[in-house]
Amino acid sequence: MRELTVPEDIRDLVKGIHEGLLQFVEQEVVPLEERDKEILSDERKLFDERGYLVTRAQEARQHIRKRSAQAGYYAMYAPEAVGGGGVPPRAMVLIQEGYYRNIGPGRLYAGWAKGFLTVPIVSSFVDGPSYMFNYAPEEVRREFLPQLLAGEKTICFALSEPDAGSDVWGIRTRAYRDGDEWVITGTKQWITNAPYADYAVVFAVTDEEMAAKHQGGITAFFVDTSSPGFQRQAVLRIMGHLGSDCGIISLDQVRVPHSRVMGEVNQGFQIAMLGISEGRISIAASCVGLAEYALDRALSYAQERKTFGVPIAEHQAVQFMLADMAIDIFTSKYACLQTAALVELATKGQGRLPVKEISIAKAYCVEACQRVFDAAIQVHGGIGLTDDVPLNEGWRIARTLRIPDGTSEIQRRTIARQMLRGDTAF
Ligand SMILES: Cc1cc2nc3c(=O)[nH]c(=O)nc-3n(C[C@H](O)[C@H](O)[C@H](O)COP(=O)(O)OP(=O)(O)OC[C@H]3O[C@@H](n4cnc5c(N)ncnc54)[C@H](O)[C@@H]3O)c2cc1C
Repeated sequence: MRELTVPEDIRDLVKGIHEGLLQFVEQEVVPLEERDKEILSDERKLFDERGYLVTRAQEARQHIRKRSAQAGYYAMYAPEAVGGGGVPPRAMVLIQEGYYRNIGPGRLYAGWAKGFLTVPIVSSFVDGPSYMFNYAPEEVRREFLPQLLAGEKTICFALSEPDAGSDVWGIRTRAYRDGDEWVITGTKQWITNAPYADYAVVFAVTDEEMAAKHQGGITAFFVDTSSPGFQRQAVLRIMGHLGSDCGIISLDQVRVPHSRVMGEVNQGFQIAMLGISEGRISIAASCVGLAEYALDRALSYAQERKTFGVPIAEHQAVQFMLADMAIDIFTSKYACLQTAALVELATKGQGRLPVKEISIAKAYCVEACQRVFDAAIQVHGGIGLTDDVPLNEGWRIARTLRIPDGTSEIQRRTIARQMLRGDTAF
């Protein structure tokens, strides 16, 4: 279908990047997957007994990040002002869509998927350069950003805690000023890339009164994870896997120079929300591509598989499943594109940040993606449940994505609150 809602310059940009990305996968990822076939196809070899990736796997990921940075893909969504590629949000939506439609939830090894080597190709706010770095102080830009842009080092985004996920204002991590330094103490949980990150953007309460009134009082710090007092506590095993990228970290009197405060003291909440908003659109766009991947598989299987003497695609019940998948995908895609267009206008100062629309896109696309995978599994019958087709992994990914960057309930809370404040335009 011709994409009429996006101008030609964006379409051309997307086409070039999309083709380049797939070529990159063929040239860089496939050979590594072949080389490490043995560990990639067996989680008992991929993770150690604590759930950490084995060294060889960590090195493979770092290699992909560095090669992707050299090829110009790694930091392509980060703003030009911090050294990124400045690819605008609508292009990002179409690139994520095309990429995930093509590679799906897993490439060669259906039993172990999760995009082990395809996810690190592009950085996001939870592991590398992103819009959040617009707030990075001079010292961070000078000393650390170049290694992050080159894919040599990574970060994690440390906001959530054991007792504060949805309720961000409830974080218990505290920081106090001691001369030219800040001293941070607290525990962070569910932190993506925490088991491997070289640096962490840590959010801590620095003014109790402001935080209690939800009027600031949280500060963002750029922390070296090798600092004394910084500890990686555990890897969290998620959705049936033997390990994950998510972990728990603790900070015990970790000292950070004042020159590494991100943005203004007490204004870290906005930085956190900026990162999370970026994450919400990116998750939504990835879900569009993943859902298309599932529909493609279902369409082709429905035309091959015969029951009662005819392809199952001729049974109306199966056709309705395919049609419902299409309805979900079409609606998801244009929710994302319209939201991304509004974000572009907001970043040019021509409108507000579309808070309501970002939440609509995140909630809708993730839930739709899960419905689509569920239907694709159903169309496949028994084979859909096996590791021979990577549909169960897609379902697990979609299920997982209903929690991070704001649960589906928190998106609905945000949508309702925005409407009750008068934002009822659609
Ligand atoms: C795979 C994964 C990766 C993650 N990565 C990161 C990361 O990199 N950095 C980071 O800081 N965090 C990360 N998180 C944390 C994530 O943002 C939180 O898990 C999420 O915000 C939910 O918080 P919680 O788990 O504490 O659940 P809770 O906040 O305890 O919520 C429990 C349930 O109550 C519901 N609920 C809570 N409050 C309300 C309300 N007001 N109205 C209606 N329902 C409500 C929730 O929707 C949920 O169903 C990640 C989580 C996962 C699963």
